[in-house]
Amino acid sequence: MKPLTEQEIRAAFVNCTKGEAKRLSVPRDLADRPWDDLDYLGWRDPQSPGRAYLVTEADGRARALVLRRPSAGAVQMRRSMCTICLTTHDGGVSLMVAAKAGKAGQQGNSVGVYICDDLACSLYVRGIKEAGPYARLHETLTMEERAERTAGNLAAFFARVSA
Ligand SMILES: [Zn+2]
Repeated sequence: MKPLTEQEIRAAFVNCTKGEAKRLSVPRDLADRPWDDLDYLGWRDPQSPGRAYLVTEADGRARALVLRRPSAGAVQMRRSMCTICLTTHDGGVSLMVAAKAGKAGQQGNSVGVYICDDLACSLYVRGIKEAGPYARLHETLTMEERAERTAGNLAAFFARVSA
């Protein structure tokens, strides 16, 4: 994806208030992120471990989400699969929850997703980060096809949040 600035990221949040988007913590090392290898940029809030954020590009626009992470004790310890990049981890997948955008979110509606707890799906798909010997199903897809599928799964998740 194309590199984003802090300002672009703050303006991209779809499921929190403008005030929240202004205050939440955005990584300081944006210039050093491997943007070429990212389907999305995800990070945890260093000030509040129960929150994570994710920004991606859809239809040429940056779109970002606030996610709630489970408390440390509730992270999946059994083997499970990320529904975005389809990598299987031992204890490295979390159920993260996004409030829906707009009125539905204000009324308390939310959407959950099982996702790599370190939000590094893009790097697992490209083989830059390893999740262990049995992390990938044997499949004949090329790296490009897997990246496309990851982007498609992410777009579907954003669509559910915005629906
Ligand atoms: Zn993943």
